[in-house]
Amino acid sequence: MDTVDESKIVIQPLHAQWYQDKVAKVDMLRLDLMHPIISGNKWFKLKHNLRQASANGCHTILTFGGAYSNHLIAAAAAAKQHDIKSIGIVRGAHLNNHSSPILQACASLGMELRFISHEAYKQKNELQAIAGYSTDGVFLIPEGGANEWGRQGSEDIATYIPGIYTHVCISVGSGTTFTGIRNALPPPQLLLGFAPMKNGRYLDAEIAPYLKSSKAYQLFDRWHFGGFGKSNFELIDFMNHFYGINNIPLDIVYTSKMMFGLQELINKGYFPGDAHILCVHTGGLTGNVSVADRLVY
Ligand SMILES: *Cc1c(COP(=O)(O)O)cnc(C)c1O
Repeated sequence: MDTVDESKIVIQPLHAQWYQDKVAKVDMLRLDLMHPIISGNKWFKLKHNLRQASANGCHTILTFGGAYSNHLIAAAAAAKQHDIKSIGIVRGAHLNNHSSPILQACASLGMELRFISHEAYKQKNELQAIAGYSTDGVFLIPEGGANEWGRQGSEDIATYIPGIYTHVCISVGSGTTFTGIRNALPPPQLLLGFAPMKNGRYLDAEIAPYLKSSKAYQLFDRWHFGGFGKSNFELIDFMNHFYGINNIPLDIVYTSKMMFGLQELINKGYFPGDAHILCVHTGGLTGNVSVADRLVY
């Protein structure tokens, strides 16, 4: 397996045709290029967790996810790279030849997978609930890397964002990456978050306690396409079209919805004509297995 290589991160300009010259510039920060399966922002959320685990003398990390979790596979790979054992608690699935490619990859990266019911999973934050589990020497990482170390690692993403950009766009799941970037980005650079689920404005409350000073952000929840993980023809069409113009593959869960929303905002004149926009490609391309036969890439 390839190792994660941050030096592969580049800023790629989008074709002017895509934004019709309505703004000065739209570029994309390609965190997806670091590794073929480890989702860009997931790596950043894990980095400091792994470091912390080592500093605490832990030989094992334990974390959680579903059968298609971008976080789980990133955790498996990151642990392997740090020579730390990993255990993944997976909700409602089993490992066999028909398992999701994500779970199979986790296993081949050396992650020990434990399968629990949906009911047991709901109590995942109380480790005692997971029968027979000893926490000695085990470092617990919440689902999605959503903790202090995850936010700290996400701050590192801001080091890849030059000051010329007036607006930075990011897709928001738990809000961990968004919060880290907002805390590290100079206040004049406005951060726009795109929620891929219905009624995503609840994220305002999730984010608020962790914001250090600048509140210069805007959260959009309009482009959910029916809800988290849901999609339609229009979105698939958009992804294929976007690839045709820019030669950048988007993922079906997060970045496609963000870019769809961004294009609509641009077309409606939301941005000043001199806006320099940077979109963060957070990866997640493994999630496209579910729609692979409908994508041109
Ligand atoms: C997990 C994920 C996100 C959301 O990250 P959060 O830190 O949970 O907000 C965004 N994009 C992609 C591709 C992801 O896999």
